[in-house]
Amino acid sequence: MLTEVDAAIVGGGAAGLWCAAVAGRRGKRVVLFEHSARLAEKIRISGGGRCNFTNRDVAAHNFVSEDPAFCEAALRRFGVADFIRLIKRHRIAFHEKHKGQLFCDESSEAIIRMLLAECRAGAVELVYPASVSSIVRGDCGYRLETTRGRIDAKKVVIATGGLSIPKIGASDFGYRIARQFGLRVIEPRAALVPLKFPQDTWRPFAELAGIAAPVRIGTGGSTQTFLEDLLFTHRGISGPAVLQISTFWTPGQDISIDFAPAIDLLAELKRQKDQTRQTLATVLAQWLPRRLAHEWLNAQGPEIAALAERKIAEVGNRALALIAAGLKDWRIVPSGSEGFQKAEVTRGGVATCELDADTLSSRDHPGLFFIGEVVDVTGWLGGYNFQWAWSSGFVAGEAL
Ligand SMILES: Cc1cc2nc3c(=O)[nH]c(=O)nc-3n(C[C@H](O)[C@H](O)[C@H](O)COP(=O)(O)OP(=O)(O)OC[C@H]3O[C@@H](n4cnc5c(N)ncnc54)[C@H](O)[C@@H]3O)c2cc1C
Repeated sequence: MLTEVDAAIVGGGAAGLWCAAVAGRRGKRVVLFEHSARLAEKIRISGGGRCNFTNRDVAAHNFVSEDPAFCEAALRRFGVADFIRLIKRHRIAFHEKHKGQLFCDESSEAIIRMLLAECRAGAVELVYPASVSSIVRGDCGYRLETTRGRIDAKKVVIATGGLSIPKIGASDFGYRIARQFGLRVIEPRAALVPLKFPQDTWRPFAELAGIAAPVRIGTGGSTQTFLEDLLFTHRGISGPAVLQISTFWTPGQDISIDFAPAIDLLAELKRQKDQTRQTLATVLAQWLPRRLAHEWLNAQGPEIAALAERKIAEVGNRALALIAAGLKDWRIVPSGSEGFQKAEVTRGGVATCELDADTLSSRDHPGLFFIGEVVDVTGWLGGYNFQWAWSSGFVAGEAL
C-alpha cells in the first residue's frame, strides 16, 4: 500500500468510489479504504437488485436538509444528464419506472462494475477490508492509522454513509470524525423507513397486513404531501407513501392519510345514496380495498361499525359526512419507526453550514471533505440519494 498519497478516501460506497475515480482520472494518487469485505454493498442491494441510480427530474426540492439550497451547486456541476452520459458510455441498459425513476435493466452489479472500471482507469488503490482507526492533522495534510498501517494524505474524504442497515457495514465513523474536528453534526435519524404503532391501537389493522392502497399522505410539521401507495404491515404502515413521509415525520407528530385522494368523497357518497341499493361497505369498496373499508369502519366505534352492511340509502347524511371526513383525513400517531435496521437512509449528519457547497470541503479544515449520505442532505425515495452521492462525489473529486 502507498504510504503517501494526494487523497485518502474512507468508505467504498457510491460516493467514495465515484469521488476516487474522478480524482484518480485527474492524475491524483488516491487510496480508498473500505472496512467491509465487499465494496458498494448498498448499490448491490438497492432498487431490489436493479439500482434506482437517479431520477429524470432532480431538483433541490427533492432533498431534505437544514439548508435546502446547499445541494444545488453540486447537482448543477454533475447532474442527471452527466450520470446518464457516463452509464451510456459504459453501455449499461436502463429503463424508466414510476415517476422518472431510472433502473438498470439487468442488475446493480453493472453500476458497481462501471465504478470499479473508472477507479482502475484512475489507478485508484482500493484497500479492503481495512479499517481506519484515527485521522489527525499531519505535517502535509492528514495522517491516518489503518489496519494496513499508517498513511499520510494531503487530503481526506469521509464517505462513510449513514447508519442505515448496520449489518452491511454502516458505521458512525464519519460523524465521529466530524465532531473530532469540531464540525456540527445534526442528530442522525432513520428516514425512508416504515412506521409502527402501539400494539393495542394497531390490533384491528394488523389483519390488513399485505393490503395496499393509493393514498395522499402528510404529516403534522410539514406541508409536504405525497401521492403514492401505502402498504399495511403487522406492526404499522409501509410502502412508498410511508417511506416518503417518514423523512418529514418527527416523533409525536401525527400522520394524515387520505384514502380517496382523487375524489370529493362526501359528494360521491351522497350521489350514490340516490342511485344504488348497495351497502355502505360495498360503495366504499369502489375507492379503497373492501377489507380496509370494513376494518376502518369497525375501528370507528360501534355506531359507525353497524353502518357497514346497511344500504347506503339508509345511512344519514351526518354519518356519511363523518365517514367521508375520516377517510379523507385519517389521523394516526406512530409510536416510532422501524429504525436503522429497516431504513433506506439516514436523515441529518454533518451540517451543511460547515461545508463549502462548491467542493464539499470543511470550511475550517481545508482538505477534509464530507460527501454522500454522511452529509445532512437526504433525498426522497426515487433515485435522489444516489444522485446526491454522484454529484457530491464528483465535486469533491475535482477539488482533491
Ligand atoms: C435497501 C436499500 C435500498 C436502497 N435503494 C436505493 C435506490 O434504489 N436509489 C437510491 O437513490 N438510493 C437507494 N438507497 C440509498 C443509497 O443506497 C444511499 O443513499 C447511498 O448508498 C449513499 O452512498 P454513500 O456512498 O454516501 O454511502 P454508502 O453507500 O452507505 O457507503 C458507505 C461505505 O462506507 C463504509 N464504511 C462505513 N464506515 C467505515 C469505516 N469506518 N471505514 C471504512 N469504511 C467504512 C461502508 O461499509 C460503506 O461501504 C438504498 C438504501 C438501502 C439501505
